Amino acid sequence: AAARALYSEKVSAISFADVGGLDDVKKQIIRRIVTPFRKPSLFAKYRRKAGGGVLLFGPPGCGKTLLARATAGECEARFVNVSVVDVVDKYIGEAERKLSAIFADARRDTPTVLFFDELEALAGSRSNHASQSHVSLVSTFLTEMDGFANNNDGVLILAATNMPWGVDAAFRRPGRFDRVQFVPPPDRAARAEILRLHLAARPLADDCDADAIAAKTAGYSGADLENLVNTAVDVAIEETLSSGVEAPVAQRHLLDALQEVRPTTLEWLTTAR
Ligand code: ATP
Repeated sequence: AAARALYSEKVSAISFADVGGLDDVKKQIIRRIVTPFRKPSLFAKYRRKAGGGVLLFGPPGCGKTLLARATAGECEARFVNVSVVDVVDKYIGEAERKLSAIFADARRDTPTVLFFDELEALAGSRSNHASQSHVSLVSTFLTEMDGFANNNDGVLILAATNMPWGVDAAFRRPGRFDRVQFVPPPDRAARAEILRLHLAARPLADDCDADAIAAKTAGYSGADLENLVNTAVDVAIEETLSSGVEAPVAQRHLLDALQEVRPTTLEWLTTAR
């Protein structure tokens, strides 16, 4: 990932329909980011200032990055994925320049969704890292994000962290990440939806039952479920190769995959903090 500090996609091809479950989170993003972007004159009429960002937090693999990319799709915007760790890693002074260049690039080519992954690397409580370079990087970020200091029209800001308690309170003031949104592990209905999304367009046997698998996968993240489907698909491909007859993905493949792919969110929920 180090070589990919900045990953930019022309216009994101993914929309909210590609994200299973998370209806409340989608609703918040629509209210805070998509509608202000689409209806600026309505917001102006109601004297409702647009701007600021949404900070997503929750266990790994539950759709934070996917949601950010889908937000870009909903706004027909470019998607730029910024690895905060890679920015922070630079020499003193260089990190500030890099960060400012990222914002300048976004303003030049709007609409753009800027997605800051692992924000805690930048926004770690200042009391813990009182170093001068860190303070200056935080202040660069907050200034760039500030809609008074800059014209950020068409620059849509999302960030993600697995450790929201490690994010400096300065980031959560109005006009900044004033919305902190939990992205939970999928519940049973969401798991069924995610499984159907990942099974779609594959050769499937009639006995494939996403609801039955959803019932057996409490604690699985979206990424775990994707992994489960891929594991089942690999076995179907192997069977096809050895028999010479196309073996569709069947329920037994999915059930077998359950033994191999274990859930990962419970560990985060119990050990984080
Ligand atoms: P991390 O904290 O590790 O960065 P994340 O929350 O950003 O994790 P994603 O990168 O969005 O997780 O998810 C990884 C992959 O898992 C996605 O690309 C997608 O294939 C699948 N996935 C996760 N959540 C969902 C979901 N709600 N619907 C459909 N697919 C999902």
